Amino acid sequence: MEATSTPNKLIDRFGRTISYIRLSVTDRCDLRCVYCMPEKMTFVPRTQLLTLEEMEAIGRTFVRLGVDRIRITGGEPLVRRNILQLFENLGALEGLRDLTLTTNATQLTKYAPELKAAGVTRINVSLDTLRADRFRAMTRVGDLERTLDGIEAALACGFDKIKLNAVVLKNHNHDEILDLVRYCIERGLDISFIEEMPLGQNDHHDRAVAYYSSDQILEDLQPHFDLVPSTYKTGGPTRYYQLSEHGSTRVGFISPHSHNFCDTCNRVRLTAEGRLLLCLGQEHSMDLRHVVRANPGDDAALEQAIIEAMQIKPRGHDFNLNSQEILLRHMNLTGG
Ligand code: SAM
Ligand code: SF4
Repeated sequence: MEATSTPNKLIDRFGRTISYIRLSVTDRCDLRCVYCMPEKMTFVPRTQLLTLEEMEAIGRTFVRLGVDRIRITGGEPLVRRNILQLFENLGALEGLRDLTLTTNATQLTKYAPELKAAGVTRINVSLDTLRADRFRAMTRVGDLERTLDGIEAALACGFDKIKLNAVVLKNHNHDEILDLVRYCIERGLDISFIEEMPLGQNDHHDRAVAYYSSDQILEDLQPHFDLVPSTYKTGGPTRYYQLSEHGSTRVGFISPHSHNFCDTCNRVRLTAEGRLLLCLGQEHSMDLRHVVRANPGDDAALEQAIIEAMQIKPRGHDFNLNSQEILLRHMNLTGG
């Protein structure tokens, strides 16, 4: 990877430059987090998923068009067979500045060193609770120790940054906010607290009842920490605060309900089926699987389709807490 000198060709109708793509490499997962998917999830037939080669072609084309950050997500990316191959090929792309991964960490004891060697710069790990019984309840099947071991394995590899993502649900884990921040301080991790987004049908809890706002989390933290608003930006929706007395740890907030972040949106998402989603909260999309399969080996056709897709990127999302199913897509398909 080298610093990019490619002029960015991806500018949408609202003047926003797209420099970041999130690739969902599978919809499958070894956990069943209650806010992400139902217990009995129906997955997409494998033949409908992009191959790793097709994903690489799409990633390569985006980088040629000026994108300099790729995040690999899912589903759980590390359960996809031969996934290291994709990391290695993307990691070798000239012009890519940042190759990152979002994972539940269950496979990190196995993969962390190879991911580092492939050029992964930063890792986000989802962890909502430090209590084994709650972890099992929130993931339905997970084992907390395994995830904690995965985090330690990643720490030992020296990635530029590891960040926890915690979805906070009232009466599920909202009383662990302080403990999670302390866990991060002890290890030099960042943490982002996420408001639950209404993606997909939810048969587990009432989202309006479980809503716990970022402002409330900030209020819970303020008596215990000196939180200084930070200018740090990853080009995403997260608003960061620095803990002034605690070294490098930053606390971030992703607040789709209480703070709209669409004006500065710099990203698009590719689903595991090859659908280019122009907005997390809208259905505007382009079928890149069709383009890549109709034009094998022809990156120019892909380039053209991606440039055209920028013209249908909507101004913003339209999340509404009281509508339980505004979207049929679950987060694991969308690539959270
Ligand atoms: N399996 C990986 C993981 O859990 O990190 C990557 C995919 S997961 C869909 C990506 C992120 O989306 C996780 O941090 C997860 O907590 C978050 N997420 C899933 N469903 C969500 C929802 N309904 N609202 C907000 N965040 C959600
Ligand atoms: Fe799996 Fe990640 Fe969804 Fe949890 S949030 S079910 S780990 S894809």
